Amino acid sequence: MQNWHPSLSKALARLQAFAPRAGKDYARLRNHDFGPDHRDNVSALSPWIRYRILTERDVVAQTLSLHSATAAEKFIQEVFWRTYWKGWLEMRPAVWQHFLAERDQASDRLRQDSDQSALFKQAEQGQTGIAGFDDWARELTDTGYLHNHARMWFASIWIFTLKLPWSLGADFFLRHLLDADPASNTLSWRWVAGLQTRGKTYLARPDNIAKCTDGRFRPCGLAEQAEALDGPEPPPAQAIPQAISQRRADFSGQVLLVTPEDLHPESLIDGRRRPARVLVAVPDAFAPDWPWGEKARAFIDDGVDDTVARLVAMDLPVTRLDSLANEPLQKLAEAHGVQQILTPYAPVGPVADRLAMLERALAAGGIALERVRRDWDERAWPHARRGFFPFRKQIPQLLAKAGLSQ
Ligand SMILES: Cc1cc2nc3c(=O)[nH]c(=O)nc-3n(C[C@H](O)[C@H](O)[C@H](O)COP(=O)(O)OP(=O)(O)OC[C@H]3O[C@@H](n4cnc5c(N)ncnc54)[C@H](O)[C@@H]3O)c2cc1C
Repeated sequence: MQNWHPSLSKALARLQAFAPRAGKDYARLRNHDFGPDHRDNVSALSPWIRYRILTERDVVAQTLSLHSATAAEKFIQEVFWRTYWKGWLEMRPAVWQHFLAERDQASDRLRQDSDQSALFKQAEQGQTGIAGFDDWARELTDTGYLHNHARMWFASIWIFTLKLPWSLGADFFLRHLLDADPASNTLSWRWVAGLQTRGKTYLARPDNIAKCTDGRFRPCGLAEQAEALDGPEPPPAQAIPQAISQRRADFSGQVLLVTPEDLHPESLIDGRRRPARVLVAVPDAFAPDWPWGEKARAFIDDGVDDTVARLVAMDLPVTRLDSLANEPLQKLAEAHGVQQILTPYAPVGPVADRLAMLERALAAGGIALERVRRDWDERAWPHARRGFFPFRKQIPQLLAKAGLSQ
């Protein structure tokens, strides 16, 4: 079974092992879920990529060192799905807030409906009697990972067969996935439900499940139709918030605050622009609103340790930060004679919300919190205004700008 240890070295080892299969093999077999002990047909890299222990750029660069862009087209497109979802949500942050509100309302309704509440518990515990669905529920809670196709089947059965609220399913995923991600998770659940691409739903079919699980599961009694759920139109795209672009950021003599949204600071800082101090915030610094489950917390906690160790090895002065209280941060900035703290841009989600609070508190003391956006996101996000199809057309150009064309 795949072991996700949150260190960069383990991530690179998995990337190296998988990269030879990222070409035609991936395109042919990626939709198959052969079970938790057979993950060779997919990368299983998402927990590392999610927190940017491994950057998308490095994943694509390693892939293109072994395959042509045409042979690896499918895999590279999948890597860009994450970028696309993030950019889409960045332009419509209200969709994340709407999900949170809907989840809370659905939880309240559940408390008053004993039948639905019992079904919800059975679904979470993998006791519905539906082949495959129950196994994926247990796999998710046991391992923190599900294959992409299993996520699609699970969400579809949750919504259209069990008729449970989609927002509670999305929340169940967020509480157990190692790669729990506001954009990829919320927007994928919305997509299955027919809320994202209006009217277009995803229906899990027994034949497809049997074929793509190598006959492990052929569930009975699944919904035969998937009528799109009702919901408001997504809001129009708004401007992506301002940030300093990676190319222009100068870290020399500055204080850099690293958060769990981006645990690879060394690729942001180049040797010539060394900060005076790097602060690495642990998940507890985001309490009491830390939203992900225990597995993700433990993963990130260890990921922070690994990040700290790598920075120490680079001779950078590092502090592990257990709290985001503004006063100590302000004193630290003053001690270094700076009037700003730099931080990698955190996309829409709880970390970004917590940073916005910190920004207001620091501003009152005359210290600015400045966000630095990676070139990868800066170039790609503006193309995520509409669907993935027009976004996908930009990929060759985005690769060229990232210095990754062949
Ligand atoms: C209902 C649902 C919920 C999801 N929730 C999350 C989530 O919370 N966090 C998360 O990281 N992904 C989520 N995904 C996307 C996708 O399922 C996972 O990223 C993928 O399964 C990770 O496995 P892998 O690394 O083996 O992927 P591979 O197939 O090896 O793909 C390579 C990389 O491409 C990216 N990727 C692949 N497929 C997608 C996709 N559909 N959307 C976005 N990025 C993708 C990931 O970074 C992945 O590591 C969700 C998908 C669905 C259908």
